[in-house]
Formats: sequence, C-alpha cells, structure tokens
Amino acid sequence: MKIDGKVALVTGASRGIGKAIAIALADAGVKVAVNYLSRSDAADTVVQHIAEAGGEAIAVQADVRDLEQVRAMAEQVSSELGPIDILINNAGIIQDKLLVFMKEEEWSDVVDTSLKGSYHCIKVVGRKMMSPKYGRIINISSDAGVLGDMMRANYASAKAGLLGLTKTAAREFAASGITVNAVVPGVVETEMISEMKDAKREKLLASIPAGRFGEPEEVARVVLFLVSESANYMTGQCVRVDGGMAM
Ligand code: NAP
Repeated sequence: MKIDGKVALVTGASRGIGKAIAIALADAGVKVAVNYLSRSDAADTVVQHIAEAGGEAIAVQADVRDLEQVRAMAEQVSSELGPIDILINNAGIIQDKLLVFMKEEEWSDVVDTSLKGSYHCIKVVGRKMMSPKYGRIINISSDAGVLGDMMRANYASAKAGLLGLTKTAAREFAASGITVNAVVPGVVETEMISEMKDAKREKLLASIPAGRFGEPEEVARVVLFLVSESANYMTGQCVRVDGGMAM
C-alpha cells in the first residue's frame, strides 16, 4: 500500500506499537516524525531503521500531556518535514492498581497521557489540517476501554474516553475532509505487557478466540489501511484488532 508524499506524526513511536506504525507508514512512502518522551536512543534507532530502508524520518521529543510541548513539536515537524497530513495518537502508559488504592497522580498520569495527550494533538494538528481540507487521525484505544480491566480504572477510563473523542472529532472534522478513527487492540506483545503475571497472561489467552496475543505489526497494518485512500469513506469507527477478544 503506497501513500507517497504524506507527512505523519506518530506519538510514542520509540517502541512497541508506535514503532511498528512509524515503520509501516515509512515503508508506504510517508515521511514520519517519531515522537518519544524520554528514550531518545530508541527513537533514533527507529529513525535510523527507516533511513536505512530508504525512507525519511525525524525524532521529536515532547510530552503529549503538555499542550505547549505539543505545539512546539507540531511546529518542528511542519518546518522539517512539511505540513502534517496524518496524526497517530498512540502514546500511552499503564500504572496498575486497584481503584480504591489508586493515587490521584496515578490516575492523572495515565489519563493525561492517552486521553488529554490525544486531545492536545488533535487540537493543534487537526486545526492545521482544516484549510488543506485533508487529514487522517487515528487514536489508539484498547479493549480495556470496551471491556474494563482489573486494576486499570485509569487506563480503561482513558481508553473508553478515546472512543468518545474519536466519534466527536469525526463529526466535527468531517466537513473539512478529515477522517478520525480509533484502532482498538487487544493484547499486543510489547514492553507494556512484559511484566504481566503468568496467571493474568493465561487468563487473557483463554479469552482470545485466536489463542494468541497480537504483534505490533498486525495493529500497524490496520492503521495503514485506515490512513490510505482505501478508507476514504470511513470515519468515527472503532476497529478492533484483538483476535476476537471483544465481539
Ligand atoms: P510501549 O511499548 O510501552 O510504548 C509506549 C510509548 O509511549 C513509548 O514510545 C513512550 O516513549 C511513549 N510515551 C509514554 N508517555 C509519553 C508521553 N507523555 N508523551 C509522549 N510519548 C510518551 O506501549 P505499547 O504497548 O506499544 O502501546 C502503544 C499504545 O497502544 C498505547 O496507547 C497503549 O495503551 C495501546 N495498547 C497497547 C496494548 C498492548 O497490549 N501492548 C493493547 C491495547 C492498546 P519513551 O520510549 O520515550 O518512554
């Protein structure tokens, strides 16, 4: 699938799902900004990987929880790569604890990264997509937002909130030629789940009809479809990529 000449900003692209999305977009001919929070080495490795494959990418540091940092990042990307056509709101974290013991900052850190961070990026980047009347925005949600998840009131709330944000933004931006969709992964083999206890792993595996966890590239390929011309008439949709875990 070729999407030549476009510019994409992928948040949280230094590793995991974001990294796979950045590489898939670059392979399709997109110039990619690889956003990260603190792991500059990991982001540089992604940029190098893309360059070695003949693509174009830059690493951009910004904390998506901070609106001013998001504004500065968007400016940097536009001046170094060109106006942003594709925004992938992927940055996300977990901080697991039972709801009754969850500290306020554990709630805010998780909600602010996934949900407020996506609001910041859409506010800044979406607005710039309005006058060219073209844009593709993808929010990476989670089955946790659909099903709930033990110890993850913060995360599940943020991911459910992203579905409402997706549908509202899709309605508000439709007349401007901008589509907004959510991709909803189940359990994907990344660092985020690396510390998951064996008992939880087994329980989750038993709940997945496909009988396995997903790979980051399997999420990336769906994102690629949604930002391509093939998905021109899709907006406000929440597409699950979860081996059948939620249906
Ligand atoms: P991951 O491997 O833990 O990577 C997280 C990424 O987010 C890193 O690039 C990290 O940057 C970045 N990040 C964290 N806080 C940030 C902030 N405040 N500002 C900017 N970037 C920030 O995560 P993943 O498993 O690939 O997950 C990616 C997305 O998919 C998340 O939204 C997650 O909720 C969602 N998801 C994951 C799964 C799963 O099973 N893995 C399932 C469903 C949904 P640094 O490297 O600099 O720290």
